[in-house]
Amino acid sequence: MRAIEKTRNLGIIAHIDAGKTTVTERILYYSGKEHRIGEVHEGAAKMDWMEEEQKRGITITAAATAVPWRDQWLNIIDTPGHVDFTAEVERSLRVLDGAVVVFDGVHGVEAQSETVWRQANRYHVPRICFVNKLDRAGGSFERAVESIRKRLSALPLVCQLPLGVERDLKGVLDLVEEKAYVWDEEGLGEEFETTAVPEEHADDVALHRDDLVGKVADLDDEVADLYLAEEPVPADVLKAAIRRITLRSAATPVFCGSALRNKGIQPLLDAVLDYLPSPLDVAVPEGHDPKTDEPRTRACDPKAPFSALVFKSFSDRHGDLVYMRIYSGTITDSGHVYNPRKGKGERVQQIFRMHASHRDRIKEAEAGDIIAMVGLKFAETGDTLCAKGDPILYEPARFPETVISMAIEPKSSADRDRLQEVLGRLRKDDPTFDVREDDETGQTIISGMGELHLEVLKNRLLNDFQVAANVGSPRVSYRQTVRRRAAGDGVFDQEAGGKRHFAKVRVVMEPTPKQPEGFELDWDTAARFAIPEEYQDIVENTVSEAVRSGAGAGYPLIGTKVTIMGGEASELDSTEIAFEAAAARAVDDAAESAKRVLLEPIMRVEIRTPNDYVGEVLGDLNRRHSTILGTDPEGTDATALTATVPLQQMFGYVGMLRSLTQGRAAYAMEPTGFQEVSAETAKKLLF
Ligand code: GDP
Repeated sequence: MRAIEKTRNLGIIAHIDAGKTTVTERILYYSGKEHRIGEVHEGAAKMDWMEEEQKRGITITAAATAVPWRDQWLNIIDTPGHVDFTAEVERSLRVLDGAVVVFDGVHGVEAQSETVWRQANRYHVPRICFVNKLDRAGGSFERAVESIRKRLSALPLVCQLPLGVERDLKGVLDLVEEKAYVWDEEGLGEEFETTAVPEEHADDVALHRDDLVGKVADLDDEVADLYLAEEPVPADVLKAAIRRITLRSAATPVFCGSALRNKGIQPLLDAVLDYLPSPLDVAVPEGHDPKTDEPRTRACDPKAPFSALVFKSFSDRHGDLVYMRIYSGTITDSGHVYNPRKGKGERVQQIFRMHASHRDRIKEAEAGDIIAMVGLKFAETGDTLCAKGDPILYEPARFPETVISMAIEPKSSADRDRLQEVLGRLRKDDPTFDVREDDETGQTIISGMGELHLEVLKNRLLNDFQVAANVGSPRVSYRQTVRRRAAGDGVFDQEAGGKRHFAKVRVVMEPTPKQPEGFELDWDTAARFAIPEEYQDIVENTVSEAVRSGAGAGYPLIGTKVTIMGGEASELDSTEIAFEAAAARAVDDAAESAKRVLLEPIMRVEIRTPNDYVGEVLGDLNRRHSTILGTDPEGTDATALTATVPLQQMFGYVGMLRSLTQGRAAYAMEPTGFQEVSAETAKKLLF
């Protein structure tokens, strides 16, 4: 059994290509878990184990891997760098205690890093930074640190300096310990020498250490006392203070090296132990009682009642693997878990500690750990598992609305069932992936977070699961909302099968700012009396379904509240069919008069371009109906542009940006919400 305080649950987050995979490979190698280093460019990296990832050389699916370091354990949750996979980032951040953020030492902070940094802020995740690729021509540690300060509005605590530059990078200078670490050029970086700071760097180290101590003194009383008394600050005192500061996210320690040249990784792992929180250092998130809704809290204690949050499930041809973070208690492989959201209890069958390329079966696991189970039938991403006698429900991570969709159909009717089954499984794994039937055309529509997201899902479907299907081209997913309050009535009164079916339902629909990307449903007390209890569920489900499918207009309604106001039943003639039809009609009727408008997804786009092309890029953005939010100089020769642009305008942007800037600009985008479409678009879409 592991001691909780010796566990670190961490994520490694980075802009695509900053070197996250290379860093992770080194970690696996040095910790003795893998016997050779799999290089990304050989398509053999251990963490990128899905075929799709190996082909693209990017990390898509968050996999958890456990590695030993010194006498401690690290659970590394792999987070993808591409925002199309927001769901993966969000759900990993939910269960991490801390993160290592990797930057490219040539580019510094890039568009994507800003996005992920903001997400990490939202989840209050303590971080340390690693400036990678300092072996590359043009790499500059100082500039990278400056961009962390400026673009991320962070307070970097420089704890190391590179020893040597570019091709002559030999190792790192440690400012806390006042030592130098020099790597052997021969092997794979397993060996390095710890020496005194070389004479020629002594002044530089002294100067930077002073600066570090001064910054720490501003944030920590213990160091402040020594600093003001002009007494020396020993390494262990400084370290403890940096840990306290990092844990409250008041500043971010920065380290450096070159993963590809095998330099700086072991001290980075030491820094993870020194500065990132153990599960005991962070608060267990608040949950609530599934029955009474009252707040409930748990201590991260193996003796407390069991509770865990499922942050990922993964289907493959062999069954479902369910990853979870245990918040409290202990679970054994013969135990039971209760799933309060589904109201189901089930028996645990197998518990695994996951590694990148293999899994170890274990007998039990306890609070603070991250493990996987096989054989759970009901657990889905976002579910809580807990002790039945002492239930708690944790809030699942929130996921943004899908913004892009495409039609998919089976190649032959024989493939239809298989397609539905596989879509169902993929959806279970990925909460930002949606599947629905188009009411008018009967087509199956899949939607997701971006072109790449759907592309990857499509390839999993066609290749991994070998479903024969035709796929349309991606299109923007529109929404609608209402601008005023309106009532709607639905009456159903018909003979069918020799029997009368009768029901009446009345609803009110109105805009609500509380649910900008969803809807709210409420019951008026009068309706609880007017509609017999046995029909209340069907009315409620029908209203939800009608709102989701767009109340006759095909686009889901968001930012909308529907209140079920009343209805009428006949003791003899009311039926489920009648209430279902009446409820759907009432919603359609209300939507007709509630002044609907069509909404389109808006993206926040961040572009980094050499100064020479700023004019062209801005001109092009203008033609795309964008709103420019900011232009910030980045170093001396590049500019970071931020804008919001309708997603409709961003199809094929990759190619355009490449040709405008001769491939020298990069961009990232993420959905930021929905906005009313122009009159022109509304007309085109016959809205
Ligand atoms: P990821 O997208 O963040 O996972 O980045 P990768 O680890 O896949 O690295 C992207 C590319 O940068 C690969 O070709 C790596 O070989 C290369 N790379 C990674 N780290 C370094 C480094 O420290 N120095 C240099 N020169 N190249 C690196």
